[in-house]
Amino acid sequence: MRARSFFLSTLKEAPADADVVSQQYMIRAGMIKKLAAGVYTYMPMGLRTIRKIEAIIREEMNAAGAVELLMPIVQPAELWQESGRWEKYGAELLRIKDRHDRDFVIQPTSEEVITDIARQEIKSWRQLPVNFYHIQTKFRDERRPRFGVMRGREFTMKDAYSFDRDEEGASKSYDAMYAAYQKIFTRLGLMFRAVRADTGAIGGSRSHEFQVIANAGEDVIAYAPESDYAANIELAEAFSVLEGRQAPAETMEKRATPGKEKCEAVAEYLGLDLLKSVKSVVLAADRVNEKGEPMPAKIVLVLLRADHELNEVKAGHLPELKEGFRFATDDEIMQAFGSKPGYLGPVGVKEDVAVYADRTVADMSDFCCGANEEGFHYTGVNFGRDLPEPAVADLRNVVEGDRSPDGCGTLKLQRGIEVGHVFFLGTRYSEALGATYLDENGKPQILQMGCYGIGVTRLAGAAIEQSHDEKGIIWPDSIAPFEAVICPMNYAKSEDVRKAADELYEELKAKGVDVILDDRDMRPGVMFADWELIGVPHRIVIGDRGLKNGEVEYAARGNLAEKIMVKTAEAADFV
Ligand code: ATP
Ligand code: MG
Ligand code: MG
Ligand code: MG
Repeated sequence: MRARSFFLSTLKEAPADADVVSQQYMIRAGMIKKLAAGVYTYMPMGLRTIRKIEAIIREEMNAAGAVELLMPIVQPAELWQESGRWEKYGAELLRIKDRHDRDFVIQPTSEEVITDIARQEIKSWRQLPVNFYHIQTKFRDERRPRFGVMRGREFTMKDAYSFDRDEEGASKSYDAMYAAYQKIFTRLGLMFRAVRADTGAIGGSRSHEFQVIANAGEDVIAYAPESDYAANIELAEAFSVLEGRQAPAETMEKRATPGKEKCEAVAEYLGLDLLKSVKSVVLAADRVNEKGEPMPAKIVLVLLRADHELNEVKAGHLPELKEGFRFATDDEIMQAFGSKPGYLGPVGVKEDVAVYADRTVADMSDFCCGANEEGFHYTGVNFGRDLPEPAVADLRNVVEGDRSPDGCGTLKLQRGIEVGHVFFLGTRYSEALGATYLDENGKPQILQMGCYGIGVTRLAGAAIEQSHDEKGIIWPDSIAPFEAVICPMNYAKSEDVRKAADELYEELKAKGVDVILDDRDMRPGVMFADWELIGVPHRIVIGDRGLKNGEVEYAARGNLAEKIMVKTAEAADFV
């Protein structure tokens, strides 16, 4: 590619509303352009990176045996009604009507459509297992679109859906995707960790998130740099709340999603086997009273028993609370929530029981490792969204320095960016939509499903968060918009320079290097600043002075201070 026949547009300043480095640099480097909140155009420079990310994902998905298709962005409401998510999904689901007044959604994800395909197409056990994927535009009407492409409303996701005969098969499909994800994120040049995750609105049981380690992350994870251990922060968050600190409203809302694993982990910690049967746990924090004054909450863990009458779960029925814990009295619950235990209005749940904990954080310091192993050597869910920095600092004091439960490392607390997510769904969708196959005996059986997402566009932002300096982006080779740039001095005037630059350009192209020749004939300072901002990993500067000695200058974007003179004839090999 020659710069004059490409489209470059860089900016000196980022817009004031660009709140993280990746967003600032992507806008300044002319990679993205904002159209509306959370909606971006991928400019030619940005699209090159997105396409490279997609290509790596596609290669590894195909290598793992997944098959590509392409499902529509616009999906009929009927399918979403069948699965129950038309009601459940909430405001993030963009609903539209056609001219006949029929309801549609812009897909935030595609479980319904793929299950509909499966129930029509999969007839026999002989067709299984099968794993379909697509790379497609998603829309989620996020409450707070921000951080550029990292929390957009329109974004690109790779989502895959596996279908198996039984749980054992589904588990193998899950492991294959897990392994593929390790390869993908490694090839993308990222530092990442897999952590055990909340299954949220999608439902299902086994689930891991792939988190890119970066300070701009919205999640908080505990991990051991020396080992593969990555642990549950969500529970540790409970401990910051235990001390009466405030959890942000959005975190509270997130806590209200059912999470069986969360319950099990909390129950395990409390030593209450009985509570393993609870459906959900909500971490409650500070509230305001009727006058709007803040009331520090003491009640922390609210274990929801939708399957029990409140009377049944009076304290007397719950044996052996761990030392230091006791149950809240109705009065205390009333005081903390401003409502009766049966009517926990603020978290929107009825018929619950509250457990009151009054230990100090100091006693809780291995707590965050309480989640179960599941055949994997890491474990954990993340601490949740929007944890304020002071709370993270407190957690850091509590968690850091402890040995990781696998005994192989020391725990560190870090913010992370969720770039991938694997779920074992079981029969959540196949049952709702009636997706079955015939087994060897001709008997209908329900399909076992898994789903596997990767945030394609979010990855571009996450990679920049992990790798940049004060001059701009430092792309890993694999996803840089261009791998190498040739910067000729005086391209228009100096015939020697032009000839050397053109030759090197052709040579690099022939070697398969994705190279751009900057033939714009700009001042060196401006030219360098552009490519440093854009973050092209390899730069060759060609000038008359060097050519006199038969040399050109090479510098790697990651180490600009070290400029290496290379024989002109060897330059292509050097890159
Ligand atoms: P988050 O917790 O960040 O809201 P999620 O758990 O809702 O993400 P999933 O439903 O697991 O997201 O979707 C799979 C992947 O899609 C995520 O791991 C993430 O990389 C990406 N993704 C989700 N929401 C967005 C968004 N608003 N903008 C960009 N990428 C996103
Ligand atoms: Mg989300
Ligand atoms: Mg998430
Ligand atoms: Mg997720």
